[in-house]
Amino acid sequence: MRACPISCTAVKQQFSTCSRKPKDVNQMTRGNPCQLPGMLSNYDPNDSEAGMKILEDLTENVEQIQQRVLEEIITRNARTDYLKGFLDGQFDKQVFKKTVPVVNYEDIKPYIERIANGDSSNIISAEPIIELLTSSGTSGGQPKMMPSTAEDLHRKTFFYNLLVPVMNKYVDGLDEGKAMYLLFVKPETKTPSGLMARPVLTSYYKSNNFKNRPFNRFNVYTSPDETILCSDSKQSMYCQLLCGLVQRQEVLRVGAVFASAFLRAIKFLEHNWKELCSNIRTGHVSDWITDPGCRKVVSLVLNKPKPELADLIEHECNSKSWEGIIKKLWPRTKYIEVIVTGSMAQYVSTLEYYSGGLPLVSTMYASSECYFGINFKPLSKPWDVSYTLIPNMAYFEFLPVKKKNEDGAQYVQCNGVCKENCMEKETEKEDVETVELVDVKLGQYYELVVTTFTGLYRYRVGDILMVTGFHNKAPQFRFVHRRNVVLSVDTDKTSEEDLLKAVTKAKVIVESLGILLIEYTSYADTSSIPGHYVLFWEITSKGNNHLPVLDHKIMEQCCSTVEESLDSVYRRCRRKDNSIGPLEIRVVQHGTFDALMDFCVSQGSSVNQYKTPRCIKSGEAINILDSRVVARFFSQKAPFWEPV
Ligand code: AMP
Repeated sequence: MRACPISCTAVKQQFSTCSRKPKDVNQMTRGNPCQLPGMLSNYDPNDSEAGMKILEDLTENVEQIQQRVLEEIITRNARTDYLKGFLDGQFDKQVFKKTVPVVNYEDIKPYIERIANGDSSNIISAEPIIELLTSSGTSGGQPKMMPSTAEDLHRKTFFYNLLVPVMNKYVDGLDEGKAMYLLFVKPETKTPSGLMARPVLTSYYKSNNFKNRPFNRFNVYTSPDETILCSDSKQSMYCQLLCGLVQRQEVLRVGAVFASAFLRAIKFLEHNWKELCSNIRTGHVSDWITDPGCRKVVSLVLNKPKPELADLIEHECNSKSWEGIIKKLWPRTKYIEVIVTGSMAQYVSTLEYYSGGLPLVSTMYASSECYFGINFKPLSKPWDVSYTLIPNMAYFEFLPVKKKNEDGAQYVQCNGVCKENCMEKETEKEDVETVELVDVKLGQYYELVVTTFTGLYRYRVGDILMVTGFHNKAPQFRFVHRRNVVLSVDTDKTSEEDLLKAVTKAKVIVESLGILLIEYTSYADTSSIPGHYVLFWEITSKGNNHLPVLDHKIMEQCCSTVEESLDSVYRRCRRKDNSIGPLEIRVVQHGTFDALMDFCVSQGSSVNQYKTPRCIKSGEAINILDSRVVARFFSQKAPFWEPV
């Protein structure tokens, strides 16, 4: 990025607003850097010192920046249909907080649907909405859709650029090699009005902000863009790994966005290393790589036959154990960059096995709604990771979350997860007062609420965070969990309610055969890659306590029915991305759920208030169930999925 022609120190620019508004994304990326949207500083991303200075300024001036962000959002959008109903066209924080309601997706869904169906986007945003970002949260079985504007791509670029100086502060020499980041695009679709609907990362990678990014010596990838942008995920994965292997001596860090995706790549490598080595040996890319862009760039990277390199890689991959394989294949790697917080924490031990002790780095916390925070101590252990919310990304508010009573404590112990994972009091009503970013208290739990530049006002993200400290005046948060999510293997997020609905549909099948489902629970089994959902079922014949004779076909049909009933993100991961394996039902012997209750009670649960946990995380509890399994059944067909 070129330097801004007007004098712009980080502080001054903090509050700068360009008067000339860009009209479209292309114009913005090619244009004058001064066309950065308001509240974003312009600087050379190669200049780590300038980047750190900006972060220091942002975290020192949290209160003023948040005030300015809200003022700017409201001033711009006060005349939208949505805000007009609550405000009288003026900016007044008190009035805003008093009259604009804290909302869930269901409240704004009618507006989003109107836009998807062709209504003007200025019903919620003065800035045109150029696409809808499909989030992994679902509503009525369909992905939620978040508005996005052209200028928001700049906000994301600004955010990504800030990750670089933070890493440079802790790891030297990142400009002396490359990053093997395995990045993928997902299928996209169009709304009836012709707006693109796609996941946020697909939107970003396909934007000019990514494709025409200026050279940054700290951020050179082994994957040519053509391989990242290839819509065939298998070809994309193969080509990216091939390029990463060929350039192995240059690789200083490896990663993917989420831990699950990175482990999927390792698994892919396990299955395909012979063919990859053969390509390296001959200098010829396999014929099944038919994507013209991929073929061309990969052939260039392969360049010529490299038999010695192929021998070396073959030798490592041939070894009996793949423990530490990452360090062996990419010997200069300093860390693995993958998100391992939240539901991704379940992959830490597998990653440690493959990594040979490399640090696992979760750099950022973001969503389709907005990019939120940066991990200022990237080398901290996964369970110590906190994210500092960046105050010019959105206006942040927080709904205090209270601990549940005894019942909650019981849930905690049954699940064997740390207290904070289960302690929310669902704040369903909007009448609870929110707290501002500068007013959150150390050690307290909150649900995040955002007002964005893209047309979301006081929107409940659904994430529960805990305040762990402060960087200057900016609070830092540990991601605790997502409200209502019990199962997650990849980007899927299944709630207890989703699970109940799906199990209820499958239950009908066995009931028609005189079989009763007495109890069920579940867990995400990530011991194999890809992980899969496991349901434990205790069943009996109607009228007695005997285990019925189980028909394989019927039980497999139950597995499929559950899968068909889960939401579209689950079905996409399972069918299209292959990032979730076939769902399994493990039938347990009679009395197993009594044993589970005994275990929970022994851990301190109250007998009176005991409720079967619908998802189990504790290894001990899973062992109790597993030791009583009498039969296992797997779904035999991937569920139906198509882009919405
Ligand atoms: P999506 O709506 O599909 O874009 O997913 C965004 C959600 O993913 C967030 O609201 C979080 O629940 C989760 N998420 C994103 N980044 C992180 C992170 N660094 N740690 C834990 N969870 C995360």
